[in-house]
Parts: sequence; C-alpha cells; structure tokens
Amino acid sequence: MEPTLPVRLSPVREVRLALLPDAAETTLPCNLRSRMPTQLVVLVTPIPDYLSSELAKRVYYVSPEIEQFHLVSEGGRVVAVEVTTSVAGDVGELSRKLDLIIAKDVLPQREVEAEVVWSSPHRPRNADGTFAQLAAAGMVAEMGEGIYATGALFHEVLSGLDRRLHDLAVGEFAASAFHYPNLISTDTLRRAGYMSSFPQFLMTASRFRSDVDTYDSFASGVASVDDIGQHIEEHSEHLGYCLPPAMCYHVYQHLQGRGLAEGPIVVTTRGQTFRFESRYRRSLERLWEFTMREVVFIGERTAVAEQRRRLMSAVGDMVTELGLAGQIEVANDPFFFNGQIAEYVRVQRAMELKYELCLPVEHGRSVAAGSFNIHGEKFGSAFGITLADGGAAHSACVGFGLERFAYALFCQHGVDLDAWPDDVRAMLRTSV
Ligand code: AMP
Ligand code: ZN
Repeated sequence: MEPTLPVRLSPVREVRLALLPDAAETTLPCNLRSRMPTQLVVLVTPIPDYLSSELAKRVYYVSPEIEQFHLVSEGGRVVAVEVTTSVAGDVGELSRKLDLIIAKDVLPQREVEAEVVWSSPHRPRNADGTFAQLAAAGMVAEMGEGIYATGALFHEVLSGLDRRLHDLAVGEFAASAFHYPNLISTDTLRRAGYMSSFPQFLMTASRFRSDVDTYDSFASGVASVDDIGQHIEEHSEHLGYCLPPAMCYHVYQHLQGRGLAEGPIVVTTRGQTFRFESRYRRSLERLWEFTMREVVFIGERTAVAEQRRRLMSAVGDMVTELGLAGQIEVANDPFFFNGQIAEYVRVQRAMELKYELCLPVEHGRSVAAGSFNIHGEKFGSAFGITLADGGAAHSACVGFGLERFAYALFCQHGVDLDAWPDDVRAMLRTSV
C-alpha cells in the first residue's frame, strides 16, 4: 500500500484536532502560518474514522488556497476539517468541494485490511534523521517543490540499483531496452485513460504561442511584471505534450498497431517521471520529479501474469540480498474524482491487480519503492496491440521509484557507505 499519512485518531470525548500531515509542517515557516486565516469547515456528511486517511490524501487537491489542515474527529467520525488558507477564502466553497470529494471518492470506499504476500527476513532499524543527515552531508539538496539534486554517492547507489533491475529485465526476461523522450503526447495519455483517472498528478508542457507579437509582448513585459507565472500563462498554449507520469505509456504508444504474432514483447526503460503531489510532497519519499525504471510485458493473458509473478519473486530475492526489511502487499491506485473509484478500488484489490513493494524509511513510515500491475486488455485495446488471433493483447507493468528505493537503502544501512555490508556494496558496485 502507499504509505499512509500519520493519522492518529484516538478515542475522543470532545471535538479535537486529529490529523496533521507533516508535509504541511515543513513547507510553511511558523511565523507565516500563525498569520494565515484558519477556518472550521463542518462536513455536511461526516465520515467514519477508518476513512480519514482517504480524506487526508485528497484535501490539498481540493483548493490551492489550503496551506495546512487538521481533521476534527468526534465519536468515531470525522465531523469537520480545520483549514489554514493563504487568503481568507469562501468557507461555503471549501465546504462544497470537500463534500464533493467525500461523496464521490471517500464514502463509497470500504475498510481494507493490509494483505501481505511476501516479507523480507530482515528487520527494520530505527532510521530517524536519515534525510537530515543526507542533507547535512551534502548528498541531497532541495532545488524546488518536490525536486532535489543528489550528489555522487546517492546517485551511485541509485544507478547501482537501476543496473540490477535493468540486468534482471534483460537477462531473465529478454527485455528490449529503450530510451524514451522526456515529453509524452497528450493524446497518448488521454487514450490510456490517465487523464480521467489521475488528473491531479498531471504536469503539462506548454510553450509560447508562435507569433512575433506574442514574443514581443512577452519579452518586453518580463522585467516589470509582478507575477511571471501569470505572464507566461497569458502568452502560452498547450502544444499536445505533457511530462510523463510513468514510463510505460511510452511503450504502449511505441507498440501501437502492432500484432504480436511472434510472441510476447518485454520492454524496459528508465526516465524522468513527473507527478504533481501538491503539499503531500515529502523529502525523497514523495517527489514531483523522480526517476522510474519500468518493465512492461505485453502478450497473452496467462503469460503476462506469469511474468509479473516471476519478476515479483525475483525482486523479493533482490531486496533480501540487499539486506533490506520490507514487504509486498496488495494495493490500489490513488484514483481521483471519477465517481467510480469505489468500484475500481474493489476490483483492483479483489483481483490482486496491483502489488506494492513497501520499504521502511523514517519515523515508522514505509514507502512503496515498486509496484507490480496487471491491466488486462486495457492498453492492448486502446493502442490496437493484437495477439496472433486478432484479440487485444494483455499487459502488465512493473515500476520502481529509484530515489525511494535508494533512500530506503540509506535509511536502513545508514548514510555512511563505508559501514554498509560488503556484499551490498558489491551488488551495487559502489566505488566506496
Ligand atoms: P505507480 O505507477 O503509482 O504504482 O508508481 C510506481 C512507483 O513509482 C512507485 O512504487 C514508487 O516507487 C514510484 N513513485 C510513484 N510516485 C512517486 C513520487 N511522487 N515520488 C517518488 N516516487 C514515486
Ligand atoms: Zn506502468
């Protein structure tokens, strides 16, 4: 499962503030927070406490004005949301939007039990303070919201991990390796259904309208405008490209219209991946830009399912060899705002279409360092990829967030690479 937010809903006798995602804590200086308006938005429809983490995952997407929030719990139900906003907002509007996501996305969901299908024999160690130590050692530096520069040692570990995953895909699964561009066609994402399932994550690429008057008016205003973002927006247009939110969409586009008479296809690729994680961004755990290694299987239903199973098992072995604590669990995607979420989540979990490799990091949290997904005929049919009998091909993809994976190694083995077990260093071929 995706790491849950730190929900602490203890039994309450009076209305109390129950949740503070610490991402919000880190993004705002205290003196600024205290000057911002705080409003209590009473929920028209209270939700049971077990759904509080589902609500907490969505509050920052409700409105960009929300700088911080607490869920207010009473008698086993979340009855209100206390929000701190950048400007004195319209409480009625916030209430309407919160109730909209509650009705569409939160209330229809059921309580789910974590279902673990694999556990590493290693036990987690206390890793609190790892991110601060990496920053103090100059191994990571914040470059913007959810964007980090990483130094040579961190990068060496990340590349070592990636090499292992690449070699596994090519050596054991006969994958073809491709490098894809950093732009992806908007139409590809629309056909893949990404825009209706995950609009909250999508980052688009725009450019200035190709017109000499546009360039002239833009360039002459640059020095004097207050809001450069707005100035750019006024002069730009969408040109049909976005930043990729996952690597596998490139593969479906690449193979579109292909018949697989020769047998299944396996492709592996690595690239920069972009997801707008709003104020949920957190250190190297949840980034707006990260590096993803993916392995994509396309072919007949049972072959694709078997390849996913084999790769999952091989990754479990690799995690054990790396000396990492962790587990693989049944998971679901963070679908958003399509009104059908309860059904998607139910089917995804019941059919075990998604598993996640969860690795412990700091403060008792775990992060999903990889996911193992089966899509049925969804992409084969959307992109006209067919089997020998003319039917739509099935697909599966396995994706790894390399910064998260590398960060979990630092959390669990420490920031001093000299102190890492020799065999782990050898596996990653680090030069230390
Ligand atoms: P998904 O396609 O959502 O299953 O994502 C595949 C993998 O990408 C996850 O298991 C993570 O390791 C990684 N990932 C997803 N979102 C982020 C993020 N915001 N920051 C860093 N890694 C991420
Ligand atoms: Zn994928």
